[in-house]
Amino acid sequence: MQSVLIVEDSQVVMKILRHTAKRLLDFELVFAVSRVEALTQLKARDDWLAAIVDLNLPDAPHGELVDDVLALGIPTIVLTGSVDDKKRDALSRRGIVDYVLKEGRYSYQYAVNLVNRLHRNQGIKVLVAEDSLVTRKFIVEMLSRHLFQVVEARDGQEALEAILADPDIKLLLTDYNMPNRDGFELIHELRHRHEKEDLVIIGLSSAGDKYLSAKFIKNGANDFLYKPFSHEEFSCRILQAIESMERLETLRQMAYTDVMTGIGNRRYLIENARTLLKQARAANTPLALAILDIDHFKHINDDHGHDVGDEVLVYFAQTLAKSLGRFFVARTGGEEFCVVMPGLTAEQAAQILNALREQIAHEFVDSAVGDISFTFSGGVVQVPAESIEDMMRDADQVLYRGKAAGRNQVLTA
Ligand code: GH3
Ligand code: MG
Ligand code: MG
Ligand code: MG
Repeated sequence: MQSVLIVEDSQVVMKILRHTAKRLLDFELVFAVSRVEALTQLKARDDWLAAIVDLNLPDAPHGELVDDVLALGIPTIVLTGSVDDKKRDALSRRGIVDYVLKEGRYSYQYAVNLVNRLHRNQGIKVLVAEDSLVTRKFIVEMLSRHLFQVVEARDGQEALEAILADPDIKLLLTDYNMPNRDGFELIHELRHRHEKEDLVIIGLSSAGDKYLSAKFIKNGANDFLYKPFSHEEFSCRILQAIESMERLETLRQMAYTDVMTGIGNRRYLIENARTLLKQARAANTPLALAILDIDHFKHINDDHGHDVGDEVLVYFAQTLAKSLGRFFVARTGGEEFCVVMPGLTAEQAAQILNALREQIAHEFVDSAVGDISFTFSGGVVQVPAESIEDMMRDADQVLYRGKAAGRNQVLTA
């Protein structure tokens, strides 16, 4: 676990910081009230993620500790009682991540959340497409301050090749005027393949051309930034774009997740299964689909209550996800689950599922009312099939044969 240093001499402010950091951060927290104490802590370890540092300390009245921390290459968020344009520029030139005015709870929360932001940035790859070396280095330096992984391209063609070669690139900052392929041509080409939420594009326009910024948006960029920009302007824009991408990603995940059990839902299954079915047909490889349904689940609800029924569902879902992790598992209805198993025939799939069935029949759910046992039945079908919906319908019919034959069995067509 990485460490975060928090330095503040005011007891009142420290109390808020301590509380906020403990609530929001999942890192090793190290607190200090003076430069001397902070320096001792800094020497004691070398796994620093970031530091939140008060600009004025009794033994460091001119921000000496900020320089100490920056000299160690640790991303630094500065707490200050006041700021004017001169001070802001001076702080930025020193290389800080951001400064935060000591204005109350919200500002401390902002500072602490910035640490989480820095942590997530480490996993985000950004491409800078800019032919001017000076501008490119300036941007790269600012992105590095925020701990992004940075890739550079000197023209539009290089940028295109870099993105095609590396699907991990999530953000592109692109100049307009570049050799080989300009910024618009680059965006055009990329928007054939990537939606706005998969690849965020920010155009860099010179303030001289007032139409360029709008053109960037119309050509498919998410946003634009006028050159020259300040560090603060730059980071606000970039972080906003990244956060809106992450919000969309969260929404998308929610749309494919069953809230109660945390595994995939019907939509997740059908969308993945369609692709898998197509691939299986094209490659002429087997693919099995199974519907699993808990036996007499209504009795569990009736005897122990709906909440205990829910506990059983969560247990079943998680057992399926764990045991069948290499396949596609989803909760497709109340107590009905579906598994798509590429590469397996129905017989092979049934064998695996029957083994799991026996295992589960011998296990107990540690529920609120004590140990509960249950069984399930399943129906398995395989390709060839017209569609996933057909497979699900056919598997359901096989399932009901098993139900009629006494339950607690997985059958094939
Ligand atoms: P069978 O062996 O034939 O499948 O019998 P069963 O009782 O399992 O099947 P039935 O379809 O008659 O009843 C399913 C029950 O599952 C009815 C419904 O109230 C319950 N159920 C559906 N969704 C949930 C849920 O999210 N939580 C709980 N606790 N119960 C649910
Ligand atoms: Mg102070
Ligand atoms: Mg049932
Ligand atoms: Mg049922």
